Order: sequence, then C-alpha cells, then structure tokens
Amino acid sequence: MMLTRQAQQYDDARLGYQRLDPHRPEVIFEVTSATEIEEAVRYAVDHDHRIAVQGSGHGLTRGIDGGVLIATRRFNGVRVDPAAQTAWVDAGATWQDVLTATAPYGLAPLSGSLPGVGAVAYTLGGGLGLMARKYGYAADHVNRIELVTADGTRRNADVDLFWALRGGGGNFGVVTGMEIALFEVPILYGGSLYFDLADYPDAVVAWREWTQDLPEEVTSAVAMIPFPDIPPIPAPLRGKYIAQLQVASLQGADVIEPLRAIGTPVLDTLGELPYAESAKVFAEPDRPDSYRSQNVLLRDLDPDTLATLPKLAGPGASAMAIIGIRHLGGALHREPTIPNAVGHRDAAYSLTVLIPGERDATELQNTILDPWRAQSIGRLLNFTFADLTPTEIAEAFNPGDHQRLTDLRKHYDPAGRLAANHELTELR
Ligand SMILES: Cc1cc2nc3c(=O)[nH]c(=O)nc-3n(C[C@H](O)[C@H](O)[C@H](O)COP(=O)(O)OP(=O)(O)OC[C@H]3O[C@@H](n4cnc5c(N)ncnc54)[C@H](O)[C@@H]3O)c2cc1C
Repeated sequence: MMLTRQAQQYDDARLGYQRLDPHRPEVIFEVTSATEIEEAVRYAVDHDHRIAVQGSGHGLTRGIDGGVLIATRRFNGVRVDPAAQTAWVDAGATWQDVLTATAPYGLAPLSGSLPGVGAVAYTLGGGLGLMARKYGYAADHVNRIELVTADGTRRNADVDLFWALRGGGGNFGVVTGMEIALFEVPILYGGSLYFDLADYPDAVVAWREWTQDLPEEVTSAVAMIPFPDIPPIPAPLRGKYIAQLQVASLQGADVIEPLRAIGTPVLDTLGELPYAESAKVFAEPDRPDSYRSQNVLLRDLDPDTLATLPKLAGPGASAMAIIGIRHLGGALHREPTIPNAVGHRDAAYSLTVLIPGERDATELQNTILDPWRAQSIGRLLNFTFADLTPTEIAEAFNPGDHQRLTDLRKHYDPAGRLAANHELTELR
C-alpha cells in the first residue's frame, strides 16, 4: 500500500519505536511481500527519490525528509524448517515473531535483549544476543540473504554482498528476508539480580570480577539504572539507583552463586525460563520512546575506572543516564566459517551510555565515556543511537574492511539512494 502525506494512516506508518527524529517521507510503501519491495524501490528510482527502510523502528538515528520510506512491519512471516534447524525470516519480522514460530520445536534464534526489535536489522548490524558467548554474533549464523539493490534488482547476496551485509548494516539494498540458523535451547537459566547501589556500591566491580573466568555457556551484562519513583516501576526498584545484573546461562544455576554472594538484591528474577520468555532476562520496557546513546568496545574494564561509574551517573547527575555493559568474548572472539564484516572480535566488553528522553545530555554522556575513550578499540553500531561522523562509523569496522564496504556500497548504490542508518561514506 502506498501512502502519501495526506493519508490518514501516514503517521501510524512512519512512526516506529524511536521517536527522537522520526521519518518524514513524501510517500510510504507499507509492503507485505518481496515483490512490493521491488515495486517500492523501482518507484523511488523512477522518481529519483532517496529510500529509507523501517522495520520496528528501534534503531533509527536520523529520519529521512522527503523520499520514500519502505515500512516492512506488515511483511513479518517466519517459516521454520525444524529438520534443518533454520528459519526464513521476512524483512519486517521481529524477534518476537521468530520466537513464537520456533518455540514449538524447542528451537531458539540468536535473539537479543528485547524481542520487539526487528530480526533483520539486528542481524545486519551484527546482533549481540543472549547466547552470544556460546554461539557468536547473529550475523555469524546466516545462511542466505535476499535483497533488492538500489537499481531495483532482486537478487541473492553473492560472496561480496553476503560478507558486507552481515555486519555492514542496511547500506547495500533492501533486504527482503534471510535464512538464519536455529539452536536447540528449550530452557534457559536466566533473569536479573537487582542490587541497590546505595547498599552495594561495588556490585558492578564484583560482576566484572566474576566475568573474568566464565564458561562460554554464560552470557551476561550489567545496567546501572536510576529508576524514577513512579508507579509503572516495580515497587522494590522505585526511586533507587540500581545495578541490574542480567544473566543468561545454558549451564544452570550454580555458576551464578558468586553473584548472589554480593548481598541481598532488592529483586531477584533468576530462574528457569522457556527460551520464548527470554525477554524476562533484561526486562526492558517495550514502548515508543526517544533516546540517544554512544558505545565503546574495550579489551578490559579497568576496575578503578569502573568503580567511579555509579558516582558519575547516579542520583544528582544532571540528566538520567543508563550505563549498560555487556560481557563479550567466547565465540564472539572467533571468525565464523564464512567471514563477515563484524569488526573488533578482540573486544571483551561493550559499554553504552543511553540517555532516555528528548533532552540532549551530551556533556553528561562525555563525562561518563571520556575515561574509557583512550582504551576504546571501536564501537557497536547496533548500540549507538546517534548521528555519527564518517570516521566514527568507520571505527566500528576492522582496518581495511571499511574501505571494502564503501567500495561495495559505491558499486551497488552509485547514486547514494539508500538513506541507511549509520551510512557508510568514504573517508577523505
Ligand atoms: C531496547 C533495545 C534493545 C536492543 N537490544 C539489542 C541487543 O540485545 N543486541 C543487539 O545487537 N542490538 C540490540 N538493539 C539494537 C537493534 O538491534 C538495532 O537498533 C536494530 O537496527 C533495530 O532494528 P529495528 O528493525 O528494530 O529498527 P529499524 O529502526 O526499523 O531499523 C534500523 C535500520 O536498519 C536498516 N534496515 C531495517 N530493515 C532493513 C531491511 N529490510 N533492509 C535493509 N536495511 C534495513 C535501516 O537502515 C534502518 O534505519 C536494541 C535496541 C533497543 C532500542
């Protein structure tokens, strides 16, 4: 369906989850098939329009003004092949759609913290999931990708495009769908321990210590969250500055004991979970919001610098800032059988500072991140909700890979028609 600015459904179709700078296209194609994606791209070519693509809209950093928006959320089929342990995922399917389709077979995808996120865009950006240390990035387990390139041609990603799309994002065409691998994981031991940082200021340092010697079966993270004192927040967390230790274990509960030794959490949600309920591990809110974030990848977390973090962003800070740290390593360190564009596999931690709301709190964000910048080896674009410079985008990739990616973009989209998130451009 094609919608113009006058259409009643225009706003509903253009607004996704991220509300900071939504798309304002001239026309929207609400697609329900690969053929409709082809038609939308051809329309853009014929009218010399730029093209933006939106799945669920979690990742948007800069809205398009004018041009064509291809909205894929209604093209969300998932077809499971239980014998091959694979699923074909249409362009607009969310991880929730995939979880719903795969759970009856006891199979799980390499989904992330929030099932409302679009599976395709997540995977194009690498995709750091709940079982990442065991299986690697979601982009490491893609078998086939179909896309419509900026000239309107529908094709299967060949060797070069297949390499670039897995990690290089939406810079090379509009993906109509992909085949992903599934894993036998009916049950997960997971959830969160919520420690009040007023009582346990060293909880985050203790978490880092625990991550130093963990089996790959355990993937974990920590979020430092100043919870407002308002009713939608669960009573035990209201008005408290919390360290939420988020754990997904494929090896049962025993491995988590050292975290319990930190003290008495105000809330403990750890337990056995069907994988389909894995949203409970991070328990992130799934309602449209505005937010900005910056991310750094690190080879280690200096414990002294780490100890200062809660003081920078806690009560009394000039704005609300959520600091999220994910433990990497394990299979994330290893190149997949068929190499892809995911960079910096030597990173051991990812650190993100997220500022919710409309307010620009760059100063606070920099105060928190500056001590880490000298040690940073790059960034995860999936965790960066900010309009980055070309150099900052290049830093997400390994040296050499960025040039190969920009060459491929120039080859497949010489007119620069695709207004991709974190658009790849040549460095001058
Ligand atoms: C609360 C929250 C939790 C998250 N958790 C994780 C996590 O655990 N692990 C992780 O790795 N990431 C995570 N992310 C990041 C998320 O994976 C990225 O933001 C991803 O791009 C979101 O995809 P989307 O479809 O939801 O967003 P969209 O905004 O719809 O898409 C993002 C961009 O992807 C491109 N794109 C989308 N669809 C297509 C397509 N069919 N073809 C070509 N390009 C396309 C476009 O450039 C688009 O602007 C999280 C984000 C949020 C907000």
